[in-house]
Amino acid sequence: MDAPGPDATTYDALIRRCGQPRLEARVLLAHASGHPREWLIAHGDAPVPPAIADAFGDLCARRAAGAPIAYLVGGREFHGRHFDVDESVLIPRPETELLVEQCLARLGPAGLAAPGGAPAVLELGTGSGCIAITLACERADLRLTATDGSPSALATARRNAQRHGVAARIDFRLSAGGPDWWTPIGADERFASIVSNPPYVARDDAHLRDGDLRFEPLAALTDQSDDGLASIERIIAGAATGPLSPGGWLLLEHGFDQGTAVRARMRDARLDEIQTLTDLAGKDRITLGRRAN
Ligand code: GLN
Repeated sequence: MDAPGPDATTYDALIRRCGQPRLEARVLLAHASGHPREWLIAHGDAPVPPAIADAFGDLCARRAAGAPIAYLVGGREFHGRHFDVDESVLIPRPETELLVEQCLARLGPAGLAAPGGAPAVLELGTGSGCIAITLACERADLRLTATDGSPSALATARRNAQRHGVAARIDFRLSAGGPDWWTPIGADERFASIVSNPPYVARDDAHLRDGDLRFEPLAALTDQSDDGLASIERIIAGAATGPLSPGGWLLLEHGFDQGTAVRARMRDARLDEIQTLTDLAGKDRITLGRRAN
């Protein structure tokens, strides 16, 4: 490659001058340029084409205004896989991987034919699809149903399912949104496991006006209830009365201070073996319960 002329900007100079932390700047420049981060490190003194410098400048300005990196680059890793994300879906969080792992651990060994064939799993509020798709990728024998109240979220989830080659095993369904969690599920449908990371942030929680959350879909974060528990209550009550097969597990993600309340709701719904598990930060994060046989 030609040596940069006196006025040419190099990749290193752009990163130095952009005002963003170096690591984030490299992620954004990799996205703007189409070059992997390793290439940027190896070719820091190469001249930057003006179109790339402009695209990078635009990303940096949006980042400076608070836009989450995952939305700026259009993707995020979850459980070791890439998922496309956009403003219609929640950005996948590492703590949600616990929900997936617990669900997998409770489905029983792969290949054991369940009565009625392959085990069916339901995910309510799938967003990017990261939970349902990871389950499908990890267990080739699963059939999944995944709902969401947002057509654009479902479009993103379908695209992610195709990317990971599991679209044929996931039945994506549009729900009515709001409190109507169960509308797309037929009265006679049964699932070996039901899993959800529903909105659980309380309506007035200051975090909704903070950091990344400001840019995420509000309906994925809060159902506008005072305590953030309205969706969790409907999901528990609905699961326990029918869709959850006898012996099946309900697994829910929730806020760090909601474990006691979620366990109480599961007891009210007569679920057994109820327990709350903590995330890597040691905070209550998921609660599970089992329908009696
Ligand atoms: N875990 C998210 C947070 O950072 C909330 C996600 C949700 O409401 N399901 O608050």
